[in-house]
Amino acid sequence: MSNDTPAAPAAPSDFIRDVVAQHVADASYPKILTRFPPEPNGYLHIGHAKSICLNFGIAREFGGACNLRMDDTNPTKEDMEYVESIIFDVNWLIAGWADGVKTPQLFHASDYFEQLYGFAVTLIKKGVAFVCDLTGEQIAEFRGAPGDLGRPSPDRDRSVEENLDLFARMRAGEFADGTKTLRAKIDMASPNIHLRDPVIYRIRHTEHQATGNQWCIYPMYDYAHCLSDAIEGISHSICTLEFEVHRPLYDWLVDEVGLWNPRPRQYEFARLSLTYTLMSKRKLLQLVEEKIVTGWDDPRMPTICGMRRRGVTASALRNFAYHIGVTKYMSLTDVAVLEHAIREDLNKIAQRRLAVLRPLKVVITNFPEGKTEQCAAVNNPGDETAGTREIPFTREMWIEQDDFMEVPAPKYFRLKPGGEVRLKYAFIIKCDEVVKDADGKVTELRCTADLDSKTGGPTAGRKVKGTIHWVSAAHALDGEVRLYDRLFTESEPEKDGRDFKTVLNPHSLEVITAKLEPSLRDARADARYQFERLAYFTLDADSKPGAPIFNRTITLKDAWAKEAQRG
Ligand code: ATP
Ligand code: MG
Repeated sequence: MSNDTPAAPAAPSDFIRDVVAQHVADASYPKILTRFPPEPNGYLHIGHAKSICLNFGIAREFGGACNLRMDDTNPTKEDMEYVESIIFDVNWLIAGWADGVKTPQLFHASDYFEQLYGFAVTLIKKGVAFVCDLTGEQIAEFRGAPGDLGRPSPDRDRSVEENLDLFARMRAGEFADGTKTLRAKIDMASPNIHLRDPVIYRIRHTEHQATGNQWCIYPMYDYAHCLSDAIEGISHSICTLEFEVHRPLYDWLVDEVGLWNPRPRQYEFARLSLTYTLMSKRKLLQLVEEKIVTGWDDPRMPTICGMRRRGVTASALRNFAYHIGVTKYMSLTDVAVLEHAIREDLNKIAQRRLAVLRPLKVVITNFPEGKTEQCAAVNNPGDETAGTREIPFTREMWIEQDDFMEVPAPKYFRLKPGGEVRLKYAFIIKCDEVVKDADGKVTELRCTADLDSKTGGPTAGRKVKGTIHWVSAAHALDGEVRLYDRLFTESEPEKDGRDFKTVLNPHSLEVITAKLEPSLRDARADARYQFERLAYFTLDADSKPGAPIFNRTITLKDAWAKEAQRG
């Protein structure tokens, strides 16, 4: 986590921050308190990152706090593995940034089960909740469509005493799953179907990852969420637009249960959708289960852990979140915007190194065998304090196959027969001879170096049009390099109901063995590297001493943009 750049740019104002600023000015709340409430049924993705940056960002900017709350009210889909990953990812994303917010305090909706049960009893006693015997299907049928009127449950007018008795027996485990629910008694004629006597408790004889077998009735999301906000003293409960239609129910429940002072209010913003990827835990789980990717942290996944493994920094994600802003309108964000944020961040912090991905042998015929000349290479041109390192130059070198063309295209300024090129940080070389195998494949280039052309030499200033990277063959370290690309070939994998599995990118991962400059033997897991002229890389967790594996985080330029231009 040492790879963070300084603080993100000042937050843009948006309609939610405007509301909060007004509340701060009015002193409406003793303290601004937001929350990030994931359901622990999967790993967090970049959409969640947007929400984390918004909630923790507001806490940070307005001197408040943000609670991390596990919204763990559905025991059938939840798991401790997910809980742990969520805690880790949130802390990673805000570490060193949300100063004053510090480590988020961890809460669980399940901690409130007893209190939530008590609130339900209060609602029953007030005559605004009842136990209903209809099945799920019947409830849906009676509820009706928004255009027509709903029909009341036959159990709607049960007495308070009977409801209290039945609800206690639901808790005691007397009834089977699905045979009874507790419903709020609101308005079966409401145009908002969420107000048509919504279910607030259901029976589930399922062990819960936090409360074990203590409960066999579980509160519904809409019930637990707003009341958890109220219990914690949340001031601004920020969620995505789908919940706008749930807001009247949020307010109804908070008001019916009690006198909260101050009381929480819900605000909605548009969720993040990104091109060339999927953004739903359920579908990401499918990618994992069907082994389309290697796991939740596969570097091609839009998960926070996947992007971290790929080499994306927390500050790049935060800058991206700030850049896209917060609105009320649904839109699709081009993944190029994210990629731009990643490049910008890595450009500032990445250590430059030389590596050759697809090697071609070059022999410098006028350079003595056995001699090594050290060349000073710049570690980071944007950061003088990063200094220089020495890279060895010898008679036999590797260059990139692409950096030589036997029959050069027009304006090809790299190496060609009879042509000159500068080896970065070293000499100008000239290609004298092209050696081929029996199949006509180029196997070696024989070159001569202008031995005066290195920095400090008499012809150091001599200009040639091309500069290429290289690695000394005698010193090169072989390393596995994983070249990642987008997971899908289509910008909207599920457009018009398409099965996303029909548009998987067959080239989303290519594994090669590269020739690395020797200093990469000491590559650090938390460092970011730019292999000059190629891309940004980071060490993968699968690396072993002496056998490094590098993940390509992102290319230096957007190869897909060129692709699009070509049509
Ligand atoms: P998914 O559909 O991927 O499972 P979810 O909304 O069910 O997502 P939760 O765990 O309930 O996942 O989400 C926690 C918080 O993150 C919620 O406040 C939710 O609004 C927010 N969130 C989820 N997805 C996005 C997204 N794509 N953009 C912005 N915020 C999101
Ligand atoms: Mg959800």
